Amino acid sequence: MQIPLLRLQCGVNSYDWGKVGQESAAARYAATTAAPDFAVEAEKPYAELWMGTHPSLPSKDVETQRSLLDLVQDNQALLSTEISERYGSRLPFLFKVLSIRKALSIQAHPNKKLAEQLHARDPRNYPDDNHKPEMTIAVTPFEGLCGFRPLAEISHFLQAIEPLRKLVGDQAASQFEQAVKGNEDSDVMDVVQKNKDALRSLFTTLMESSPENIETACKELVALAKNSPESFGTISGEVETNPTNPVELASIIERLDQQFPHDIGSFVFFFLNFIKLEPGEAMFLKADDIHAYVSGDIIECMASSDNVVRAGFTPKFKDVDTLTKMLTYSYAPIEEQKLQPKDYPYAVLNATAYSSASESMLYDPPIEEFSVVKTDLKRTGAKATFDPIEGPSIIICTRGNGTITVGNKTEEVREGYVFFVGATAECIIQNTGSGEGEDDVFTTFKAFCELDGKEDMVNGH
Ligand SMILES: [Zn+2]
Repeated sequence: MQIPLLRLQCGVNSYDWGKVGQESAAARYAATTAAPDFAVEAEKPYAELWMGTHPSLPSKDVETQRSLLDLVQDNQALLSTEISERYGSRLPFLFKVLSIRKALSIQAHPNKKLAEQLHARDPRNYPDDNHKPEMTIAVTPFEGLCGFRPLAEISHFLQAIEPLRKLVGDQAASQFEQAVKGNEDSDVMDVVQKNKDALRSLFTTLMESSPENIETACKELVALAKNSPESFGTISGEVETNPTNPVELASIIERLDQQFPHDIGSFVFFFLNFIKLEPGEAMFLKADDIHAYVSGDIIECMASSDNVVRAGFTPKFKDVDTLTKMLTYSYAPIEEQKLQPKDYPYAVLNATAYSSASESMLYDPPIEEFSVVKTDLKRTGAKATFDPIEGPSIIICTRGNGTITVGNKTEEVREGYVFFVGATAECIIQNTGSGEGEDDVFTTFKAFCELDGKEDMVNGH
C-alpha cells in the first residue's frame, strides 16, 4: 500500500473581513504551497485557509493534483472504514486558519435537527444539513464575543449605557431587571429557566429594533464612548464587568462602529462576553452558541458544514427570527467559555524534547468529529512520535522548520506547510531549525478524528 502521507495544497478565501496581503497568515500559508496561478496581492483581503474535503474548497494532493476528497473516496482505508461509513467517505471535520482584520458576523450554528429543517426549507442560505460545533485556538492574540454575559453585567449596562436603555425601551429594560434581580447567580432550575426567558425576551426586543432607532442609538453610543469612556466601566463595589477596563471597552465600541456603522452589533456587544485569548488559548462553541470573532489569527476546527445563522456585523443574509429562537440563552462568565488543553498522552517525546520543555497539548471538545493536538518542539533535534490512530489527521505548521515522517517517507516542513496523514499510520515530527531560543520553536497543529465511543454530549446521536 502507498504510504499515507500527502502534502496538501490548500485554497484561501478572500472575504472582506480578512487581513490584507502579507499581513494575513492564511494568505502566507497558502502561498507556501500555491497553485501556479496564485500570488498574494498586496491590497487584497485573505480570510480563511481551508484544509480538508469540504466540496466548496477541497484541498489537493501536491504530487498528483488530485483532490483530497477524490483520494479518500477512492481509498476509504485512508479514513478508516468505520469513519468512512459513518461520515460518508469524507473527513468528519474541516480545519481552517482564519486571519481576522474586522469583526465577523454575529452568528450561531444550528444543531443537527434545526440544520435539517433549515436546509429543507432554504437550501440556498443553508447549504448543509449538518451541525457545526467549532473550536478556536489563538495563534496571535485574539478578541471575540462568545456566549451571553452573566446577567448582572447586562443589568449593569442597562443602567450605565443610556443609548442601550433607550433602544430596548425603558419598559423592556425594567421587566428584565425585575425578573432577574437577586436571582442572577441562582442554579435552581426553574429560576435559571425564568432568567433565560427574561434574557430571550430582552434580546429579541433589541434585535427587532428599527433601522432608524439603531442609527440614532449608535450615534449616541459612539459619542458616549468618545466623550465619557468611564461610563462604560463598573461602578466600584458593583459586580465585576468584563472587560473591567472601561477605556478599552469604549475604544472597541468605536472600532466596531467604524467597521460596521449603525449596526445592531454594537449593542449586541453589551449582551455577550468579550473574550481575549493569548496564543495557545482556546474556546469551544456548542451548537446554538452565539458568537462573533473580532480580531486575530486563529486555528479553527469544526464539523464539516457551512451552516451559519447571522444577525449583525454582516452584509450577508440575516435571519434574526431564526437566531433569536434557536439560541440557548445560557449565560456564564468568560472563564467557562474557554477550553483548557491537557497533556496529550499518545505522543512520545525524545530526550531533547524533554530537556527543552517541548510539549504536546490536546484540545478535546465534547464531540466526536475532531480533536486538535498542538505540539511545540523547542530545540533542534526535539522529536515527537505520535501513536497510530484509527482515523485521519491533518497537520499544519505555524512556526519554525522541521520534518515529518510516515513509514519510510520523510518530508521537509516549513511554516504554512499542510499534510494529510491516513489512518493507522505512525507519524513522527522533528525540529530541524537552526535558530536560537524563541526562534527555534517548531509548532504544529494536528486535527484528527477517532471514534473512541466518546459520548457525544453536545448533540446526541
Ligand atoms: Zn462560527
